Amino acid sequence: MNQAETYDFVVVGAGSAGSALASRLSEDPKLKVLLLEAGAASHPYTSLPMSFGLLIDHPTANWRYRSVPEEGTANRPIPVPRGRVVGGSSSINGLVYVRGQPIDYNTWAQFGNRGWSFDDVLPIFQRMENYEHGADDWRSQGGPLHVCEAYDQNPLYDAVFAGAESIGLKRNRDYNGADQEGVVRTQTTIRDGRRMSAAVAYLTPARNRPNLRILADAHATRLLFDGTRCVGVAYEQHGRTLEARAGREVVVSSGAVATPQLLELSGIGRPEVLGRHGIAVRHELRGVGEHLRDHINARVYWRLNQRGLSYNDRIAGLGKVWQALRYLATRRGFLALPSAPLLGFLKTRPDLECPDIQMHVMPYVIRDASRRSLQPWPGMTLTCYQLRPESLGSIHIGSADPKKHPEIRFNFLSDPLDQQTMIDGVKLIRKLGNSTPLDVYRGEEVDPGPSVTSDADLLDHVRRTANTAFHPIGTCRMAPGPEGVVDSRLRVHGLQGLRIADASIMPTMVSGNTNAASIMIGEKASDLIREDLRA
Ligand SMILES: Cc1cc2nc3c(=O)[nH]c(=O)nc-3n(C[C@H](O)[C@H](O)[C@H](O)COP(=O)(O)OP(=O)(O)OC[C@H]3O[C@@H](n4cnc5c(N)ncnc54)[C@H](O)[C@@H]3O)c2cc1C
Repeated sequence: MNQAETYDFVVVGAGSAGSALASRLSEDPKLKVLLLEAGAASHPYTSLPMSFGLLIDHPTANWRYRSVPEEGTANRPIPVPRGRVVGGSSSINGLVYVRGQPIDYNTWAQFGNRGWSFDDVLPIFQRMENYEHGADDWRSQGGPLHVCEAYDQNPLYDAVFAGAESIGLKRNRDYNGADQEGVVRTQTTIRDGRRMSAAVAYLTPARNRPNLRILADAHATRLLFDGTRCVGVAYEQHGRTLEARAGREVVVSSGAVATPQLLELSGIGRPEVLGRHGIAVRHELRGVGEHLRDHINARVYWRLNQRGLSYNDRIAGLGKVWQALRYLATRRGFLALPSAPLLGFLKTRPDLECPDIQMHVMPYVIRDASRRSLQPWPGMTLTCYQLRPESLGSIHIGSADPKKHPEIRFNFLSDPLDQQTMIDGVKLIRKLGNSTPLDVYRGEEVDPGPSVTSDADLLDHVRRTANTAFHPIGTCRMAPGPEGVVDSRLRVHGLQGLRIADASIMPTMVSGNTNAASIMIGEKASDLIREDLRA
């Protein structure tokens, strides 16, 4: 064990939240900040938007977790990719930029989390972004994160918009503005054809600050305590065990899978879980690892009867070379795409106050759940997930060894509302795909196939084929009560010197993809910490 280095703050995990937090904290030159990251400093693919597909199952830049097989999802282990590189999951994600709905944050506040209502967090979302279409009451310019519309042009998209209109779906201009509902071009975190991860947005401009140290390949294995005060972190780097001391605080930003794992390895959590693995209880907190929510994503896909519209045939053979050359010359084409160029925020029932499902439109069909390759024939995929799922799962350690993956139990589709919403969602995206304006391009429906029509069969299709949309949250949720892990200032209940800032603190799911909300949490954590320093 080497002699420990001392910082004011040690942030564990350089992902969406951790990058924003470390960058904002180190704006104060008086604060000495260490940012620890288990993964590498970078990966050659991460600047490409399409690193989404290239790194989705990568052996080093991705943790490649798998869920525990469960009856509700046909006993399949579901792949759970998470970024393992500076930038975290924002370095490998689909680049779709969604804040969610005001009701999401107002619900957080209604649980007793003061300071997290939509009115409270809107200014943070605004200071984060540089929105290409300018500022208004909702949007802003001048922030570190560039947000623009997906550029890709395709007659298929015009047909999707026309199809949406033909079945009575609204069109929207800005789903991050006054109203989320409608079918719309995706807003993405891409600038000049390059991925804008949280690392690019927040760490690149901060890299030369003498008071910020970013340590890659440093895997935190345990939090260090003096009584009930967290005083540092033990980590492994290149086969050595080292310590970093925090004079003020440790902030865990390791994401919804690894944050509860690190707490449990440090003796914080449910005594029965810790006891199973011979870990002494330092502090009982029953919420650690509980309340997992995620979006389960179902898909319907069709063959197309024309070539040249889908990327399945556009990148086949020499098409790959053409796309690479096109990207080098223009920063456009397949390699510059987000995961889905069009989205829809839709209601499965007209009586609903706000959208309850999100649809993604993809001009391609992937081959299997690992998503590493595309089908050889031209195709189109529509996917949907329920925006605010009720089903609760858990993530707990399965071993006291920090290198072993924790056990992820999604418990997907256990709630009847989730089952019905997914059935209705699949019916709605199928109705859009089968609408008249798409007749000219659409071939046969391949999956689930036209014979699958009853509610029972559609639910069976979802159970057998749907996967995570990569949005786990809630495993160290923010709540004042005994099931909460952090309070509304993100301080771990009952301990000192320890906060959590990442997707694990979300009390309920936000209505959309979770990167924007995770970065907002990192930004908000820096505000809270700086306020507390001044107090
Ligand atoms: C494949 C994929 C596609 C996605 N697509 C989208 C999308 O299109 N739009 C969107 O909004 N969201 C998307 N998401 C979700 C979004 O990226 C995440 O919700 C968000 O990045 C979570 O941020 P975080 O800070 O909580 O965790 P992360 O960004 O995952 O960061 C956690 C960091 O902690 C590090 N870490 C973990 N354990 C340790 C340890 N013990 N020691 C040190 N470091 C550690 C990790 O390596 C990682 O860098 C996607 C996610 C994935 C994986």
